[in-house]
Amino acid sequence: PKYVYRFEEGNKDQKDLLGGKGANLAEMNKLGLPVPPGFTITTDACRAYLKDNKVPEEMTVQVTKALREVEDAVGRQLGAADDPLLVSVRSGAKFSMPGMMETVLNVGLNDKSVEGLAKIANNDRFAWDSYRRLIQMFGKTVQDIDGDLFSDALDNMKKIRGVKLDTDLNTSDLKELTAQFKEIVATETGKPFPQEPRVQLDMAIEAVFRSWNSERAQIYRRRERIPHNLGTAVNIVTMVFGNMGDDSGTGVSFTRDPSTGRPGVYGDILMNAQGEDVVAGIRNTETLKDLERHDKKSYDELIEIMRRLETHYQDMCDLEFTIERGKLWMLQVRVGKRTAAAAFRIATQLVDEGLITTDEALTRVTGEQLQNLMFPMFDDASKPQPFTKGMPASPGAAVGKIVFDNDAAEASANAGVPCILVRRETNPDDLRGMVAAAGVLTSRGGKTSHAAVVARGMGKTAVVGAETIVVDQAARTMTVGDQVLEEGTEISIDGGTGEIFLGAVPVKDSPVTTYLAQGLDAGLAAADNDDDKDLIRSVDRIMTHADRVRKLLVRTNADTPTDTQRALEFGAEGIGLCRTEHMFLGDRRPYVERLILSPEGSKERQDALDALEPLQKGDFKEMLKIMDGKHMTVRLIDPPLHEFLPDLVTLEVKDAVTRAKGETPSEADLHMLAAVRRMHEANPMLGLRGVRLGIYLPGLFKMQMRALVEAACELKADGMDPQPEIMVPLIGSIRELQIVRDEAEDVIKTTQEKFGVKFDIPVGCMIELPRAAMTAETIAKEADFFSFGTNDLTQTTWGFSRDDVEGVFFPQYIEAGIFGVSPFESIDTHGVGRVVAEGVKRGRSTKPEMPMGVCGEHGGDPISIHFFHRVGLNYVSCSPFRVPVARLEAGRAAV
Ligand code: PEP
Ligand code: MG
Repeated sequence: PKYVYRFEEGNKDQKDLLGGKGANLAEMNKLGLPVPPGFTITTDACRAYLKDNKVPEEMTVQVTKALREVEDAVGRQLGAADDPLLVSVRSGAKFSMPGMMETVLNVGLNDKSVEGLAKIANNDRFAWDSYRRLIQMFGKTVQDIDGDLFSDALDNMKKIRGVKLDTDLNTSDLKELTAQFKEIVATETGKPFPQEPRVQLDMAIEAVFRSWNSERAQIYRRRERIPHNLGTAVNIVTMVFGNMGDDSGTGVSFTRDPSTGRPGVYGDILMNAQGEDVVAGIRNTETLKDLERHDKKSYDELIEIMRRLETHYQDMCDLEFTIERGKLWMLQVRVGKRTAAAAFRIATQLVDEGLITTDEALTRVTGEQLQNLMFPMFDDASKPQPFTKGMPASPGAAVGKIVFDNDAAEASANAGVPCILVRRETNPDDLRGMVAAAGVLTSRGGKTSHAAVVARGMGKTAVVGAETIVVDQAARTMTVGDQVLEEGTEISIDGGTGEIFLGAVPVKDSPVTTYLAQGLDAGLAAADNDDDKDLIRSVDRIMTHADRVRKLLVRTNADTPTDTQRALEFGAEGIGLCRTEHMFLGDRRPYVERLILSPEGSKERQDALDALEPLQKGDFKEMLKIMDGKHMTVRLIDPPLHEFLPDLVTLEVKDAVTRAKGETPSEADLHMLAAVRRMHEANPMLGLRGVRLGIYLPGLFKMQMRALVEAACELKADGMDPQPEIMVPLIGSIRELQIVRDEAEDVIKTTQEKFGVKFDIPVGCMIELPRAAMTAETIAKEADFFSFGTNDLTQTTWGFSRDDVEGVFFPQYIEAGIFGVSPFESIDTHGVGRVVAEGVKRGRSTKPEMPMGVCGEHGGDPISIHFFHRVGLNYVSCSPFRVPVARLEAGRAAV
């Protein structure tokens, strides 16, 4: 196979094979932009390596050939004694994983070529600094030597010389340091530092391959739902040096502001430095605008390139570049990560600039981003004076206790205590802590530092580069001026402004939520700055378009008037699931208890039913009023019995205690214990539920249906437009549905006659057992509609008890790649999804026009929504807060 592609051979659509970096380097090369010569080793090669633990021979041969071609192109040879070619070896997977895998710079330097480099650069210090960096980086990442050994030696050297900065060390210091580093390598590996340039190159390539499976890379992939089997590509790029003097530099830039989406020129630069220095946030950077002062020619060229790339990619891009002695080189471009707010604003800006269509704009934002924007934010009115300030790097309002490392962050999160991870700067090793923390705060680094990029990617609030803060990791304190904050102190950070507050600052609704609930004018009024106003307008345009194009209707799962009202404000087009068992909790529970435990035909049972009926009717009436003119699907009671009965263990303990005291339990207690024992189920989720309970307890469903129909008839008589639907849960056989349906029709007929009104009340059922889906063509004969209950359908298709499995063995299942995410969260399209599709197909074979929806949790999950669109459902029903997300995702599914 072809394992190696020269930059001339690839293009941006080959990310699977060449990784994002490699594909985009090839694309820039194609556009004629200044890319240093190089080549990319494919992800195929990485997968082959990881499988056999050995580099494929063909790859080695192809690397030799590509390397020769690069050498010919630049007229230099890798690691030659004079004028050596040096290369960087960079990881680059299909999906960007910032900082998670390895990169080795300056490959090709050795005891001889370091002199050659010194001569060419006319700078001894630079050459020796590059050499010691190679040994340090190579030792740590390729040879697995403890990095502290090198940094300790470096610190020690600075101490001996009495200097503070690396840059204060002179050539002879660096030569000595290089010797010490080589010594470390020899001691730790038992072999001298490899002098042969090609050996260095081969070892570095293998190290990048291996880094695909490093712990932090695996954590990152799990979190970002990136498959573990993709592998990384490796880019071999001719080194260009940003640290050759004051006419050199390096930087990162964005074609628009990645945190607000504001148009303009954004970026960080560092003159006389190497790329890694910027990303690591080790030295504080200058802004891109400052480059104009340092090097106008490169600045102008860069701005022109940014414009071209944005037009070419039709999206906001982020770029890495290096200037070597006044010559600009492009090292990377990619469609840039951005905050949720920026995503919406940029999408509509691009429409206005004629770069993309409105349909396309819809695909540039996600339901998850919309959800992020709905989170509460700090209330300006009650904000105290900030304690200090940093750079806003990733928006949101985070409140939590200070922690200083991964373990503390995880411990805090596990204890349910929100925390803020405070670091001097973050590096990829801090990922665990960042995942666990509510927010991230650093004292060093710019908007493009690792902390900022990673936090934005995961929608985590971050403030970076708060330079007034001194973080003392060892003492576990952060200090501003003379104020010392210990670990555990509560602080609040505002990722939108960069402000840091002492204590917990109150939060308020986001203006986006206000907009979604109350419309454009209210949203604009709630926004207190121009960026937010612009954001509201963008969200409005995109939501309006989504509503226009979507095929799926969006209903809500609601069983209280408050939820119903809220969902309606968020745009729900009906209630897809009103779970009536939730109406039996609280002080009504004893009635249900009596209902279940009393003998059939007894007065007690009838009394309980009679007591419940007016209460039910009241509930239904209130909700039908709110939903006037819209469908309201009421599901007949479907309780897992144990939720309504006293706990068996508690009763047994009580009984035992009474007897141990030598007393006799009361008649009532004995009766209760016997009844609960009789009804006790080992698997309540698969027991006496849904329609089974309805058939087992005659009168229960009838009572509910009468309450609903009477409520509707009264409203109808008052001139309103109630649209109730009766839904029967847990149907497995058509006969079950027939029995309930006969009863329903009887109730509807007599009640409507009593009220002198007539209107259609459909009777349908849930499809939540595989048997129902597989016999849907029969069941459809008795059903006016179907609603897929994908919670139970997932449970019964996989045979997973929905109450018992998720927290227990799912982590291992996800780890082992059995599924990427819990099938209770996102529909398992291959299995459970196929059962849904089959049910739709069979049902429609009987009634082509039958309305069908879904009301399991999946109805609010973006990926699942796209699936439901594809199988041709008519609506999804989800919790009120997911309604806007579902509207947006349904729109995205339709374009
Ligand atoms: C379902 O099973 O998907 C459903 C919506 O019903 P419940 O979650 O109430 O069992
Ligand atoms: Mg169910």
